[in-house]
Amino acid sequence: MVNASVLPSPVASSLRCARADCEERPIIDLSYAGEHLCRRHFIQFTEERVRRELHRQASGIKGGTLAVAVSGGKDSATMLSLLARFLGARRNIHLVAITIDEGIEGYRSATLRSAEQLTSSLGIEHHVRRFEQDLGTTTDATARTLSQIAPCTFCGVWRRTLLNRAARDLGATHLAVGFNLDDLAQTVLMNLARGEPTRLLQMAPHRRTNDGLVPRIAPLAPIPEREVYLYARLREIPFDHSECPHAGRAVRNVYRTALWQIEEAVPGTRHALLKTREKLLEALEAAYPPEALPPCVNCGEPSSGGLCRSCALRKQVAVP
Ligand code: SF4
Ligand SMILES: [Zn+2]
Ligand SMILES: [Zn+2]
Repeated sequence: MVNASVLPSPVASSLRCARADCEERPIIDLSYAGEHLCRRHFIQFTEERVRRELHRQASGIKGGTLAVAVSGGKDSATMLSLLARFLGARRNIHLVAITIDEGIEGYRSATLRSAEQLTSSLGIEHHVRRFEQDLGTTTDATARTLSQIAPCTFCGVWRRTLLNRAARDLGATHLAVGFNLDDLAQTVLMNLARGEPTRLLQMAPHRRTNDGLVPRIAPLAPIPEREVYLYARLREIPFDHSECPHAGRAVRNVYRTALWQIEEAVPGTRHALLKTREKLLEALEAAYPPEALPPCVNCGEPSSGGLCRSCALRKQVAVP
């Protein structure tokens, strides 16, 4: 099922592409940039932005293993295809895809199949880690036990833990995640609205490293969700359209809806939120130098002391 919000808005048929000397009809209206682009120039513009962003966030990648979190949905499928396009020919860089199976009936098996199809067509090594094996429970089972908590609360924490563990076990220098502009702007808004600005330091893309945590990069950061969708369709990248049955209960939905409305009224708000984060980071980094993260007393993963958040949540559902 395709969420209507990701479908590009129709463009007036009388317009021409904004690029010099291009007579093609535009296929997309980039309101935040005040221009319309044809198919060819939209593809080119998208690839340029991702390439630039990759260089900006990961200029330190000189070689080694780059782990890529691939769910099989449009964002991660597009990110993996672009990384393969930009880095696939580099002999000193080894791309490895990781999919986390949270155990969500009627959803994850379809996206997993799509991730398998994509990685095999790109010739990229693919690893699958499962909640059931690694954590002893699944998102569906926990959602039944902890029915008072929105499933994304524990599912998101556990997925981050397993992704980090898998990337670290593979010796990855970085972990690429498929967050698009909308996702990241929502996270900035959410953290500011909750009065938790220090969380801006913890969200991807990471500018500094902590022992035991593989720094995450987000190459799709400058690309709005609907442009990721359009690019994936134009490039015929295989992805699965399913939506997680638990997604409707996510608190993030409130911020997503609010941000769509603000962006409609004030184009460029999502970009401005990301810039706000960049501006605040320097002050936050100076005020909060990296702390040692002691190993969790239960699983050994980095924690802020005692039990890590992942184990604390598992304890709530009595998983050993
Ligand atoms: S929407 Fe929530 S419950 Fe579903 S996979 Fe994502 S984090 Fe997990
Ligand atoms: Zn054009
Ligand atoms: Zn732990």
